[in-house]
Amino acid sequence: MVHIDKVYINGEFVKPHGTKTLTLINPDTLEAIGKVTLCDKKDAAYAIKCAKEAFKTFSKTSIQERGEILQRLYDAMSRREEELNAAVLTEYGSPISATRGRTRFAKNSFLTAREQMNRFEFESVLKDGSKILKAPLGVAAAIAPWNANYTHICQKLAPAIAAGCTVVFKPSEYSAIETQILCECFKDANIPKGLINIVNGIGEEVGSYIVKHKDIALINFTGSTKVGREISKNAAKMIKRTILELGGKSPNIILDDADLTTAVPNALKIAFSNSAQACHAGSRLYVPESKFELICEMLAKAVKEIKIGNIYDEECYMGPLINQTQFDRVQSYIASGINDGAKLLAGGLGKIDGLKGYYAKPTIFTDVKPNMKIAREEIFGPVLCVFTYKSEQEAVNLANDTIYGLAGYVSGADLKRAKRVAEQIFAGWVYINKGVYEGKGVIPHVGAKQSGIGTNGIDDYLQFRFIS
Ligand code: NAD
Repeated sequence: MVHIDKVYINGEFVKPHGTKTLTLINPDTLEAIGKVTLCDKKDAAYAIKCAKEAFKTFSKTSIQERGEILQRLYDAMSRREEELNAAVLTEYGSPISATRGRTRFAKNSFLTAREQMNRFEFESVLKDGSKILKAPLGVAAAIAPWNANYTHICQKLAPAIAAGCTVVFKPSEYSAIETQILCECFKDANIPKGLINIVNGIGEEVGSYIVKHKDIALINFTGSTKVGREISKNAAKMIKRTILELGGKSPNIILDDADLTTAVPNALKIAFSNSAQACHAGSRLYVPESKFELICEMLAKAVKEIKIGNIYDEECYMGPLINQTQFDRVQSYIASGINDGAKLLAGGLGKIDGLKGYYAKPTIFTDVKPNMKIAREEIFGPVLCVFTYKSEQEAVNLANDTIYGLAGYVSGADLKRAKRVAEQIFAGWVYINKGVYEGKGVIPHVGAKQSGIGTNGIDDYLQFRFIS
């Protein structure tokens, strides 16, 4: 049982002023594995003060200096890769194969940002001698959720550092062990003091304080649309720049010429990836009415083949949900689907027999009406809703009938047609004939509609200034 009683601020591990603690539970075994002492507003104020002080010098560093820092961060994380993976398994319960990929993606964020920085024009001179300067904006605040905790941290830190900003980060309090190892990597990488400052703490208290603080120039948030709205509202009072990566309820359209032997198992992978705690989950499946029965039969068979439970097994696809609250939340959605008259094709209420942790059953509903709660709201758990459509246009209309626009998926043999359908889905990323969502990083990270604002690239952290 570890006790994380220090927090990384100004390049040191310091004792927080806050005294509240949170017990960390392994969601797979339900054993208590640690305790974290949470920061309070005073700790957040101290972190902001240090970041503000550090900004004075860090904002003037050269591209070369920042490139070296990004490289050292990558190297430090590479040295602790196995420990980071192990922490995710015990603290989050994510299966090993998925965890490894995410750790690689997280550390690569530093190299990706360095490459982008090396190509970036921070200053350009016009014919008449006027200049366009792109200067670091100030102290950035970043706030992240518990799913893929350090992926979010690295993905937000890397472009901020490349741009010349210092950062105050509030990770999820449920990911304290992962965060602690990452902070040890920061220390090991010998980065300038005050460049990265971490405050573990409760969102409504510490997160909200950071968002409202006058010395925070921009907020980069990943989390639910509900909290994103609250952050937008608070940030608007000082017209702060906000980058929001929010929830989703992404559609997956199977066209009538699709190869069902791959499209059907892929539909389950897309719906239940990252133990179904994924913003990009394809949780609404649209199938041609003429193939509904066949597809249902195939789904019912394929769902039984998903490997769940032994998270250390390379073949395992789904682990537990993060905690009791999340488990209860998913159960309440399943109950609402049943009460509203949707039909269970697989799964249902309760835990999976024989598994100790917070394992919800992979659940598939048919006969779902578009106005039902399970059809409209993000569940963030293993619940897939199946709908039918009669025409291609109806499929597109149904897919777009949502407040969200994070991702979309299309399967079909005629690529020209599949592309035509994909281009009509109004979402940040749309994938054709692909099993699971592929990493961001190479493309701007943009959610449409209430799934987000911003790109999470270097531009987000810069102030454009015209000097003539
Ligand atoms: P959440 O919105 O409850 O919390 C996210 C973070 O915000 C946490 O660190 C929390 O402590 C903090 N927070 C809570 N209230 C706050 C407030 N008032 N002010 C400032 N900070 C506050 O989300 P969650 O349950 O931790 O994560 C799941 C959600 O994250 C899902 O909706 C999912 O879709 C979304 N998500 C989106 C993406 C994306 O890239 N678009 C990626 C991962 C997760």
